[in-house]
Amino acid sequence: MVKDYQKEARGLIEGKVLFDVPMRKYTSLKVGGPAECLLFPKNMKELRKVVLHARKKRIPLFILGKGTNLIVRDGGMSGWVVSLTQGMKSIQMDGECVEAEAGCLLQQLVRFSVQKGLAGLEPFFGIPGTVGGGLAMNAGAWGVEMKDVVHSVTLMKENGEVLERSRSKLRFSYRSLTLPSSSIILKGSFHLKKGRREESLERVKSFSELRKKTQPLDYPSAGSIFKNPEEGPAGKWIDEIGLKGFSIGQAMISDRHANFIINLGKASAEDILRLIEWMERKVYEEKGISLEREVKVVGE
Ligand SMILES: Cc1cc2nc3c(=O)[nH]c(=O)nc-3n(C[C@H](O)[C@H](O)[C@H](O)COP(=O)(O)OP(=O)(O)OC[C@H]3O[C@@H](n4cnc5c(N)ncnc54)[C@H](O)[C@@H]3O)c2cc1C
Repeated sequence: MVKDYQKEARGLIEGKVLFDVPMRKYTSLKVGGPAECLLFPKNMKELRKVVLHARKKRIPLFILGKGTNLIVRDGGMSGWVVSLTQGMKSIQMDGECVEAEAGCLLQQLVRFSVQKGLAGLEPFFGIPGTVGGGLAMNAGAWGVEMKDVVHSVTLMKENGEVLERSRSKLRFSYRSLTLPSSSIILKGSFHLKKGRREESLERVKSFSELRKKTQPLDYPSAGSIFKNPEEGPAGKWIDEIGLKGFSIGQAMISDRHANFIINLGKASAEDILRLIEWMERKVYEEKGISLEREVKVVGE
């Protein structure tokens, strides 16, 4: 049954509004119960309406990127889940500066920059999320993180105010960006260097090949489950104690990359969360290392 406050979402924006949507369709791990209401604002004006209405009515808001770092619990998500991937995904270029809206895919941003002969974003090509998710997570690969390439980020605060924060005013840390409370990333601006298109394409290709060799890309996953602790890569410790290939229900620790959990087809969020807890316990018992989760767990 669609609640009244959910129906109000339809009157608020022209963008798509869906009810009772299984979140497994919107996450790369392919698990998760239904979102009560999923909204796709068409532009910043619509997003502001959503933000202000939610604030007024005290409706919890969750900003969804491409769902590639998320585990949504089987009970689903109440409140409003907002996706910027349908209306807010433009990319613009001004000299050596490229500006991308939050709903744009990182892969599209890299492709665009490379085509324009700008270098610096190639390591991000294989990260399957959005620009917003990449900035929020300070995503990184091959020794480069978002914090190293971003020039400024434009945010919407919970009162609808829009502000631009330069890199020096942003608090990035390992796989995290601390934002003012409930802020939404609207876009990121990246100052790049002139490069040679062929060289950039070659770099993209070699990073992609390395990923194919080392990651289980033929199965649903959420990338690395754990952050790498100071003691070394999380996958190394999980592998050393022989956990590769272990499964609970349909969730399995990948035998290609021990820090990846793959969904063999019909895994539930519960299977995955039980497997994560078990990995945490085993690594602590056998290596004395406390693993910290990189994936975000949301929902009920
Ligand atoms: C096969 C595979 C490989 C991966 N490889 C890497 C890798 O090499 N390096 C790496 O760092 N990660 C990697 N990941 C993880 C993931 O792709 C990144 O963390 C990515 O940046 C998440 O982006 P997303 O759009 O999917 O965000 P989501 O998973 O949808 O959301 C992640 C978090 O960001 C928040 N968020 C999203 N958009 C916004 C916004 N506009 N404003 C405010 N908050 C927002 C969400 O609320 C949530 O808390 C991989 C994942 C997979 C499946």
